[in-house]
Amino acid sequence: MKVILLGPPGAGKGTQARQLAEKYGIPQLSTGDMLRAALKAGTEVGLKAKAAMEAGALVPDEVVVGIIADRIQEADCQKGFILDGFPRTVPQAQELDKMLAGRGMAIDHVIDIACDAEALVARITGRSTCSKCGEGYHAQHKKPAQAGICDKCGGTLTQRADDNEETVRNRLTVYEAQTAPVIGFYRPGGVFKEVDGMADMGAVFKALCAILG
Ligand code: AMP
Repeated sequence: MKVILLGPPGAGKGTQARQLAEKYGIPQLSTGDMLRAALKAGTEVGLKAKAAMEAGALVPDEVVVGIIADRIQEADCQKGFILDGFPRTVPQAQELDKMLAGRGMAIDHVIDIACDAEALVARITGRSTCSKCGEGYHAQHKKPAQAGICDKCGGTLTQRADDNEETVRNRLTVYEAQTAPVIGFYRPGGVFKEVDGMADMGAVFKALCAILG
């Protein structure tokens, strides 16, 4: 099963993709996570992506398309995958279609986690993640028992460098201009569905599972 989760920054794509990956036994492919790992490791890809990520702008299409082209060839992607944060532009979507067609594959589900942009700034600036196990937290909605410490594994909670208000506002503008058109690219194809991303996380997960079966 090959799935694309669409939605603005803060829609909950990462959280939902992680849970879906676990439930369906297929990998979550997050270009954001892969770019952050490349940046941390100081690779060439990381260096190319650095300035754009810090500004909340998009990394060039050829960089992310290259990452995904390599990743989907790996053995664990043969049964399927959940794309989270890719494609983010219409040219990326076109390239993805081509690369899958070349392998006799196609996307089965494209689901937009639809959100009200105004609510997203508070959502994003309040979030933190465990640096050890990846569990997500939120300053208002999901506080850890002890500040800065993961309830699950005791790891340290960190905030993403690009989760500050100024960068978030830029990421939302970039989403409207460059990523929202991806919805129009997939809508006519019969694989497109939408869920209400303003519902609570559990309800969003249920709605996604109802679509994926
Ligand atoms: P995310 O974790 O999905 O919010 O991505 C964090 C940042 O990584 C974005 O703000 C972009 O700078 C970059 N990025 C992630 N995925 C893509 C993509 N598909 N195309 C371009 N830039 C991306």
